[in-house]
Amino acid sequence: MTDYLSTGSLPEEYRQLALTVRDFAQQVVAPVSAKHDADHSFPYEVVAGMADMGLFGLPFPEDFGGMGGDYFALCLALEELGKVDQSVAITLEAGVSLGAMPIYRFGDDDQRAEWLPQLTSGQALAGFGLTEPDAGSDAGGTRTTAVEDGDSWVINGSKQFITNSGTDITRLVTVTAVTGNNGGKKEISTILVPTSTPGFVAEPAYNKVGWNASDTHPLSFTDVRVPRENLLGERGRGYANFLRILDEGRIAIAALAVGAAQGCVDESVRYAGERQAFGQAIGRNQAIAFKIARMEARAHTARTAYYDAAALMLAGKPFKKQASIAKMVASEAAMDNARDATQIFGGNGFMNEYLVSRHYRDSKILEIGEGTTEVQLMLIARELGL
Ligand SMILES: Cc1cc2nc3c(=O)[nH]c(=O)nc-3n(C[C@H](O)[C@H](O)[C@H](O)COP(=O)(O)OP(=O)(O)OC[C@H]3O[C@@H](n4cnc5c(N)ncnc54)[C@H](O)[C@@H]3O)c2cc1C
Repeated sequence: MTDYLSTGSLPEEYRQLALTVRDFAQQVVAPVSAKHDADHSFPYEVVAGMADMGLFGLPFPEDFGGMGGDYFALCLALEELGKVDQSVAITLEAGVSLGAMPIYRFGDDDQRAEWLPQLTSGQALAGFGLTEPDAGSDAGGTRTTAVEDGDSWVINGSKQFITNSGTDITRLVTVTAVTGNNGGKKEISTILVPTSTPGFVAEPAYNKVGWNASDTHPLSFTDVRVPRENLLGERGRGYANFLRILDEGRIAIAALAVGAAQGCVDESVRYAGERQAFGQAIGRNQAIAFKIARMEARAHTARTAYYDAAALMLAGKPFKKQASIAKMVASEAAMDNARDATQIFGGNGFMNEYLVSRHYRDSKILEIGEGTTEVQLMLIARELGL
């Protein structure tokens, strides 16, 4: 079977990285995936392995404990991990692009020195606290408040669905909060909240449809007092800064989704060659072969979409529209391929221990998190001047 790493289209250092992560995914991640999924347990040993490989530091400079790579390298790693285990891939994606990246992009020297080495080494995780019960797609609906009191911010409110926010190694959550009012318009800022601060509570984890081994909690903040220096970036720029982080994050989610879509193709090719019915392998039926050919086309076109968005981003060019397109087509490719792969697996496809059934449960959130498909369409339309 041909594979995107054998076409010669990737520069050698990227190809080597993808091969190394592929090997890790197959040797270390895949053997424990079904168990963590069934137990809803966080894969600490896998996270430690990714930390040892430097994956949490991939796109950061060595000065901050990073690997000196770039965002595209992170995407390649996410694609390879996403093929076999979306929970592991989203743990890395959220740890890097939502946890550490806001501090790298918007932090001052002290904040970067304090937090980045812990986060880029994978010794600690940080959460990205934007979504609230009344602020999801309409993230500007933030109700959490941060009030100045002497040398402190005092935070009250709640967040929901926050990834990596309640593990044993979570040390920080970056939250958006209303810090004032500008002519009737909410002033939203971003504040670093160490999870050890009194009044911060990660409520019990959600019982999710998929991504069972990924850590997701509602958070509550009751008179949480942090120093004024914990303001991240400029006061009043919190919402805009988080939107920039989400633009980048969409490319990373697209890469993860391409991995899921490709994982469904690979599993289907194997199964269709092995499973016998009516005296031949089911893949000999054109109905099955065409289904898999279409799945391959979806994965391939979604991959080119995220490569394009990443290339624009790395070249310092506008990439918002391309990131939204990549996120939308890749998440749809993952969901469509997971549904088709499940069909090809027949009754086995409905059994939880099969990878394709896990992709079927896991892929739905790809069309929802970091901006729903409808939000991507809004952003694309806006870029077209509509
Ligand atoms: C497992 C998981 C992990 C997550 N991790 C994080 C995290 O780490 N940090 C974080 O901040 N958030 C996180 N989220 C939140 C996620 O980003 C939101 O759930 C998502 O943005 C959608 O918001 P919502 O759930 O409030 O849906 P809503 O905004 O209530 O949307 C409901 C539906 O209405 C549609 N809709 C809304 N407005 C419009 C419109 N104008 N036009 C057309 N359709 C519209 C939406 O597309 C959707 O289909 C996570 C969510 C999940 C489930």
